[in-house]
Amino acid sequence: MKKQKIKYNTLVIVESPSKARTINKYLGSDYIISSSVGHIIDLPKSRLAIDIENNFKPEYITIRGKAKILNSLKKLASETLNVLLATDPDREGEAISWHLSNALAQKNSNIKRIEFNEITEAAVKEAIKHPRNINMDLVNAQQARRILDRIVGYYISPILWKKIKKGLSAGRVQSVALKVICEREKEIEAFIPEEYWSLDAELAYHTRKLLASLNEYKGQKIKLSNRAELDEVLDHLKDKVFTVSDVKKQERKRRPSSPYITSKLQQDAANRLGYTSQKTMIVAQQLYEGIEITEEGPTGLITYMRTDSTRVSETAITSVRNYIASEFGAEYLPEFPNQYQNRKGAQDAHEAIRPTDVSRTPESLKADLTREQYKLYELIWSKFVSSQMTPEISEMTSVVVRAGECVFRISGSRVLFNGFTAADRSDRTEKHPVPDLKSGDQLNLVEFKPEQHFTTPPPRFNDASLVKFLEESGIGRPSTYAPTITTLNKRYYIVRSGKQLVPTTLGKIVNDIMIKHFSSLLSIDFTVKMEEKLDLIEESKSDTLNMLREFYDPFKTEVDKAEINIEEMKNILDEETDLVCENCGKKMIKKLGKYGFFLACSGFPECRNSKPIPLGICPKCGTGNIIKRSSKKGRGSFFACSNYPSCDFFTRDNPSESPCPKCGSILLVKRLKGRGENHYCVKEGCGYQIDLLDEKMTRS
Ligand SMILES: [Zn+2]
Ligand SMILES: [Zn+2]
Ligand SMILES: [Zn+2]
Repeated sequence: MKKQKIKYNTLVIVESPSKARTINKYLGSDYIISSSVGHIIDLPKSRLAIDIENNFKPEYITIRGKAKILNSLKKLASETLNVLLATDPDREGEAISWHLSNALAQKNSNIKRIEFNEITEAAVKEAIKHPRNINMDLVNAQQARRILDRIVGYYISPILWKKIKKGLSAGRVQSVALKVICEREKEIEAFIPEEYWSLDAELAYHTRKLLASLNEYKGQKIKLSNRAELDEVLDHLKDKVFTVSDVKKQERKRRPSSPYITSKLQQDAANRLGYTSQKTMIVAQQLYEGIEITEEGPTGLITYMRTDSTRVSETAITSVRNYIASEFGAEYLPEFPNQYQNRKGAQDAHEAIRPTDVSRTPESLKADLTREQYKLYELIWSKFVSSQMTPEISEMTSVVVRAGECVFRISGSRVLFNGFTAADRSDRTEKHPVPDLKSGDQLNLVEFKPEQHFTTPPPRFNDASLVKFLEESGIGRPSTYAPTITTLNKRYYIVRSGKQLVPTTLGKIVNDIMIKHFSSLLSIDFTVKMEEKLDLIEESKSDTLNMLREFYDPFKTEVDKAEINIEEMKNILDEETDLVCENCGKKMIKKLGKYGFFLACSGFPECRNSKPIPLGICPKCGTGNIIKRSSKKGRGSFFACSNYPSCDFFTRDNPSESPCPKCGSILLVKRLKGRGENHYCVKEGCGYQIDLLDEKMTRS
């Protein structure tokens, strides 16, 4: 090693500039902090770069554009006595540190790794006291994942190119997610809505009005399928007296839930704040890496946001208990700290996502945070404080009211003690006060409130329910939920309609091919086992090479088989139509573009005519085609008849990709504000309609 002039005692390398800024505040002039700005070394994009014959050896390169950063890090490393690698505390961070330590080894021989779960003065200084070597189990687990995903993508993508179109790609976890989204869509398409009726009676007790729901009729649970059945009941109820026959009161204790892990944070942020998983992770990372706080400078506000552990450090428990006792009072503090179970296989080395300092209330930070940061911090802070508080106690009342042979029910609830909901107001039990009724009390009928309903199909997935599915089935990991959804969206396999994730025609075709040729790879069972094996590598209980070998041979056989069968599917997309090109008279061909199907002239390249596919025959004049048009003043697009101006058919609602199941005409999609979509048939007199409602907000 060439002797260099030593300028600093210790170089600390992190992966992000904002994290570097925050750490800088805590370390003295002996330290210089620098950032790698993410990964510096990775597999090249253009080739497999895995030597299968040579024990799956990966061929790493310096990422294009990163040579300059690497060189400056090398220079700094040669000018310092020690190098500390302080990348994020998970396998991705460990892998970055490993690559850095290899790249810098020639310039410095004192390279160590440090790890902290939160960027606070205490945590950073404690970490510096305990430098360690790179944890090769973590690195191996990350590498195995990278190699596996590279093999899957590299072999399957060309098959999709040959069968569908260039540029498409598949991924291990991503293709399973696409499969469940497509399966749900099939269920929805096959669903036949059924009519039913509900009957509420508005009753009065002195001056108080109460709503009672019909529950039983003639000794049976009620199911009113149509207007006639409803009329029969209404007829029976004529002149009947409404009498209270039973009142039941029950005390209910509701315990708080655990502080956040990644999946639950993403679910609540999606349900309550309308954030996509990706947005949640971006904002959480800002809170973790440090925000400029007035008079304090850059400050890390939450612990590391990629975690599946609900564990909380002793110090954090002590401080939150002190906070609860002083801010809320003794009755809000349980005798012993609340304990929470981890999901099986969770990495207990981490902590839950919590504020780094519980005394920094959301309110106190309001001026320093963006609106998005504030809302997410408030979610994390409230969940953490409430998780160490006493249960909410409410009284549930159930009143049975009889009228003739009908049984109505009134349910009420009253909060006796608010407990943990004092800190997490969004989780309060709703109040439905019921007056003090007793058996024999008579209630006066104000009016009947019958309502027609239609059964709705299972809801489409949204960010929250997809993350929940991935987690509960054991497929997702804290680092993969958000990228999985983002990738499907970026490749145009799914689109967002409000909160709903809707597969595109392209997504459905890709999924069909994947299912046909790679069914075992797409099996949830197989994917779960794969994830478990990858976790075992991380715990040093399994060997990367064995895992890759076990995977590779059967997978390659599937790939080879798919390649032999490739001819079968050729040209499924370049379908000739009966439509004629108005420029040259040749037939038009239906083609799949990046954003769905379009029509192109078969005379290409001599004739370059292309246009959108007509969406169907106009329901008004019966001869024109419905086509998409853009409004001149840039107010978005609308749909109109090609016979305009002689036919004035016009709608702003988007046509659905599938036709009306009843008459084959066009289905239009109307957005229901905050609730989902209504699909209705455009043809007069058909009457087909179905509601695709958003997944209900679920309590976590
Ligand atoms: Zn043409
Ligand atoms: Zn028309
Ligand atoms: Zn119809």
